[in-house]
Amino acid sequence: MRFLNVDCHVHSDYSDGDDALLAMVEAGAAAHLDVMVMTDHLTLPRAMDPAADVSVAERALPFYKADVVAADHMSRAKGGPEVVLGFECDWYPGCEDKIERWSAGAKVRLGSVHWIDHGWMDDPEDLSLWEELGADELWRRYVDAWCAACESPVNFDVMAHPDLARRFEAEGWKATIDLVPLYDRMAEAARSTGRRIEISTAGLRKPFGDYYPALPLLERFFRAEVPVTIGSDAHRARDVGAGLESARAYAAKVGYRTQEVPHTDGSWETCAL
Ligand SMILES: [Zn+2]
Ligand SMILES: [Zn+2]
Repeated sequence: MRFLNVDCHVHSDYSDGDDALLAMVEAGAAAHLDVMVMTDHLTLPRAMDPAADVSVAERALPFYKADVVAADHMSRAKGGPEVVLGFECDWYPGCEDKIERWSAGAKVRLGSVHWIDHGWMDDPEDLSLWEELGADELWRRYVDAWCAACESPVNFDVMAHPDLARRFEAEGWKATIDLVPLYDRMAEAARSTGRRIEISTAGLRKPFGDYYPALPLLERFFRAEVPVTIGSDAHRARDVGAGLESARAYAAKVGYRTQEVPHTDGSWETCAL
């Protein structure tokens, strides 16, 4: 089993990233990545993203897909990372047909829950959903949606940042309920549906300063034999590859010995941590 340095979650300015696709790929080369997965946010219905501010506009989908493939060829010709075409796909009720259609041709689909009921739960500019529901109820609804996403017929290859509901913990939105029963449900949902989960280093760059998922949740995924990928969720070139080495150590600490790595031919490889 070989070791590969891999970032499975990277955005560009095709969706809500700050930097262009080629700048992200160059940053991946500078970070000595072997494989990186471009995972711009898949197109969303108008009710969720009216002006395509956070997702790839439908009309831009062919350009995004072609540009990632071209970036892969260019990168490899220069000895840089393999660049895999992927999307981060929001789960929401009724998403299935739209995801299949819009993400056609992608090799990796990250499954994410950011939308609860009628609003975004991770927008630092708009915490109205938190004010309306409170952290405890938001957590419950988040886990309901996350488990529904696992059980969805969509082929989500990886469930991204599994406990995103931690996002505003340091800003006063920390759950007061016991999260263990919710963690147990998540581990069982991932196990029974055969999903991989992501260890995300994005939380290290947020005020709460920790990985997604938190240690007790990662331990439950490990005990349930749920495989992991590792990603930075970089939205800026300087964050590509950020924290991967420490995330591998975090996974190893709970007992993981391997990470899952996707390739441009659609295959997955189990690699040493
Ligand atoms: Zn996300
Ligand atoms: Zn993301």
